[in-house]
Amino acid sequence: MTSDSENKAGVRRVYLDHSATTPVRAEVMGAMMPYFAGQFGNPSSIHRWGREARAAVEDARAKVASLIGAAPQEIIFTSGGTEADNLAIRGTAWHKRSKGNHLITSSVEHHAVLHTCETLEKEGFKVTYLPVDKYGMIDPEDVEKAITDETILITIMHGQNEVGTIEPVREIGQIARRHGVTFHVDAVQSAGKIPIDVSDMNIDLLTMSSHKMYGPKGVGALYVRKGVRLSPQATGGSHERGLRAGTENVPGIVGFGEACRLAKEEMPEESLRLTRLRDRLIGGILDSIPDTVLNGHPTIRLPHHVNISFKFIEGESILLNLDLMGIGASSGSACTSGSLEPSHVLLAMGLPHELAHGSVRMTLGKGNSEEDIDYVISVLPPIVSKLRDMSVFR
Ligand SMILES: *Cc1c(COP(=O)(O)O)cnc(C)c1O
Repeated sequence: MTSDSENKAGVRRVYLDHSATTPVRAEVMGAMMPYFAGQFGNPSSIHRWGREARAAVEDARAKVASLIGAAPQEIIFTSGGTEADNLAIRGTAWHKRSKGNHLITSSVEHHAVLHTCETLEKEGFKVTYLPVDKYGMIDPEDVEKAITDETILITIMHGQNEVGTIEPVREIGQIARRHGVTFHVDAVQSAGKIPIDVSDMNIDLLTMSSHKMYGPKGVGALYVRKGVRLSPQATGGSHERGLRAGTENVPGIVGFGEACRLAKEEMPEESLRLTRLRDRLIGGILDSIPDTVLNGHPTIRLPHHVNISFKFIEGESILLNLDLMGIGASSGSACTSGSLEPSHVLLAMGLPHELAHGSVRMTLGKGNSEEDIDYVISVLPPIVSKLRDMSVFR
């Protein structure tokens, strides 16, 4: 594993950003390879080449469906999580426009959901953005109280991508079902990590993304419960039951299917292993560095997810120093746009600015070992003391 865990200078390399993306597994790449050149057919073609490609797509559809307890016909392949979120939300809003114009979501959703809702507001829809508690948790009672005669969609995520909290989707699903409101769940972070059963959880629409679970980028899926109707957002052909026109990304879909099959098979063991590593990392940091706080729910959280705030310093400067030590993490105060506003998620949780600015997200994955965790725990304290010594905030 030299190439993965060490660079040429011999510095250990530890990738702790699996919620941003994951490497494609060798088994997944192996499954995809034949479909680039040898079996390159268009699944819509009637000849042998087309039939081979169609069979591969349908085989992958069954594997994706099986991961979430769905039927294969209920899976619509898309270009990823963002497109699936758009199809679910815009597709429901426009299809049900004559029934009502109100949507319910939360203040901690991914931008693929939030920006889509904001766009719909400009188009005349009304949106309720529910608050969360200090752990980033949504209260199902708030969902029920927000429902009106006009409500056509509830869209709530399963695993929160920035702080790792697992939202009470089963309870919200029961409420949605009782009120006859369509229920969409963004499960990009939880799929393949923790069990999902769309029937048991009363979910009508569910978003998944391949590249967050060791599959290739640019492919995802929307689960659409049998009988749930949507307005297609891409028109041009009858692909994917008329809900998503365009020639299928056959190699990508095949890879996604294989990633789902492996995730299902390995989930019990791997989620336990990740939980142990996660708790070792959280405990190691909180015990060895003063003025640190775990963000997100302490126990009802994704098995691979750690988010910690370091008082008095900027998450960004910790990241740069970690990067110099070969460690890849991310921060909640993403200043990609040049603004130093902390993330909407940490602010919605009511984190004071000094904590929101000092947040670092470390998300574990298949390639991480106990040695990786111990390495991080050994390099972090000197980085934090150095930065705090220079800090003007303390
Ligand atoms: C990554 C992510 C998305 C977007 O998925 P893409 O496949 O990258 O478009 C949507 N929702 C959540 C929660 C995510 O983490």
